[in-house]
Amino acid sequence: MKLYRADNFSNIRWLEHGFGTRGITLDHYLGNLGVENAVFARTNQIHGNRVFVLDGAGREGTLEGDAFVTDSQGVVCFVRTADCVPILVCDPKNRAVGAIHAGWRGHVCDVIGRSIRTMTENFGSKAQDLLAAVGPSICPSCYDVGGEVIEEFTRNGFSDDLWTELPSRNSYSLNLKRASMGLLIAAGVSKGRIAMLDLCTSCFGGDFASYRREKTDASRQVNFIYIK
Ligand SMILES: [Zn+2]
Repeated sequence: MKLYRADNFSNIRWLEHGFGTRGITLDHYLGNLGVENAVFARTNQIHGNRVFVLDGAGREGTLEGDAFVTDSQGVVCFVRTADCVPILVCDPKNRAVGAIHAGWRGHVCDVIGRSIRTMTENFGSKAQDLLAAVGPSICPSCYDVGGEVIEEFTRNGFSDDLWTELPSRNSYSLNLKRASMGLLIAAGVSKGRIAMLDLCTSCFGGDFASYRREKTDASRQVNFIYIK
């Protein structure tokens, strides 16, 4: 059961995490990892910036949001992706974790910075202590967007080194992973504490579901992190 991991999380004994591959469910991964009695919420990702603080009590109903943080043991934070960027965060000092889903809309509304601030407010995390990992997601060569997307980025203060104009296609190539890195750094995370998994969901072999490549919503991969 293939699972990609971030090198910078590997020395933390109380932590489990992974970036999954296409079609393998969270249940499958947790079963394979021998996890019993894991707590995880039902979620619906909506490309917004709402952050949920999860605890061991579990949650009724469906959580409509794109970021989930916890300092409770056995509570799984996860996001599903198929080109959007999954970002996992860990506070090694205060034992807290988070999972964030960020497509272009999530970047524009800074779901990443809001998640970091939520960890600070709830768990006492200091941004400079955090470790982060930016997971498999669409690469700039595979990601053409229209001028209206670039306008949103410009309006929200992103620098123009995130995109390249493609005049022959009347579009722009956008680098979402670099945007994620920029928002993490803007939130106070040290560049040297951010791992980048340089894998494209669209052009890298068959490990990943890709909305752009497959033109369908049917498949996703799950990305998760929890305190063992
Ligand atoms: Zn690609």
